[in-house]
Amino acid sequence: METHGLLMVFTGNGKGKTTAALGMAMRSAGHGLKVCIIQFIKGSWTYGEIEAIRRYADCIDLHVMGRGFTWKSDNLEEDRRLALEGWNLARQCMDSGTYHLVILDEFTYLLHYKMLDLDTCLKALAKRRKEQHVVITGRYAPDALVEAADLVTEMQAIKHPLQAGIKAQRGIEF
Ligand code: ATP
Ligand code: MG
Repeated sequence: METHGLLMVFTGNGKGKTTAALGMAMRSAGHGLKVCIIQFIKGSWTYGEIEAIRRYADCIDLHVMGRGFTWKSDNLEEDRRLALEGWNLARQCMDSGTYHLVILDEFTYLLHYKMLDLDTCLKALAKRRKEQHVVITGRYAPDALVEAADLVTEMQAIKHPLQAGIKAQRGIEF
């Protein structure tokens, strides 16, 4: 079957964006296809996810970029340097031909806070290998990214247990 590489975006203010990306990683891994996950906010993948991924180490590579920042930190120069480093890694992974699926988790924030140039990123994404599937997650996906994507899902927050004062639950939140 011919592979048509898709650009996919999971955005919105509801829970489930990163979880959906992980589900897709598992689905690819189930086919024995290689997946690369780049975490753009350190700690955005929790203990439960990291341990699960470890069991698929032959199929899923995980890279952690950044330093746990919110992309609104006091050291803008360092943030920009790390953003560029992460983006360069993402491009390498997309160009390598190694991966069926590349997941850029919380990448929208780099665009939203203008840590990276949106046009440059969109051009590079558009020029990726034609078989390369890419998932981008995070709130505030810029309009131009939504426009460029083949699949966009917006998670809408209707209720979250935190609002009722319920603490984060093991296996659900971490
Ligand atoms: P998950 O990692 O559970 O799939 P996510 O990737 O959609 O969530 P993020 O925006 O990355 O969500 O935020 C991560 C954390 O913020 C998670 O612990 C999540 O439960 C929490 N969160 C997400 N949406 C809400 C919300 N509407 N209210 C409160 N907390 C939220
Ligand atoms: Mg997330």
